Amino acid sequence: MIVHFDERPSKIDTIIIHSCFAPDAKDPFDTQESISLFNQCGVSAHYLISRDGNILNLVPEEKRAWHAGISKLPFKDDQREAVNDFSIGIELIGESDFTEDQYLALIDLINQINTRHKIKYILGHNHIAPNRKTDPGENFDWSRLKSSFKDCLFC
Ligand SMILES: [Zn+2]
Repeated sequence: MIVHFDERPSKIDTIIIHSCFAPDAKDPFDTQESISLFNQCGVSAHYLISRDGNILNLVPEEKRAWHAGISKLPFKDDQREAVNDFSIGIELIGESDFTEDQYLALIDLINQINTRHKIKYILGHNHIAPNRKTDPGENFDWSRLKSSFKDCLFC
């Protein structure tokens, strides 16, 4: 169970991609281990995608999950801060590489989100907090998302 989230002050128009794993766990890619870490660290995300492509909804989309931290959009004409306010956070379990099942699940999930919200930006945590964060990492295959969501803006 996830405990760190609150009310959202604005409309959703952004998706933030993250990656996570539990380095000290017996199985660092176990979903429950990552959820325990979120709770220990006082953070959360709306969705968690396991290595085998299972999508867990941890926080309702209409609530504000605490995944972005101090953050700012990287666009010349849009530099809104506090990205949690208007974004949905998706965590992929992994250290540097992601599975085919995860990419398929992620694309499926974004398609579903797009039916509920007008998504303008799809970004990585690294794009909105470049001095603090590197996830989802340089091996994340952005070209797959770009070709699947031609109406969205990427970084
Ligand atoms: Zn992150």
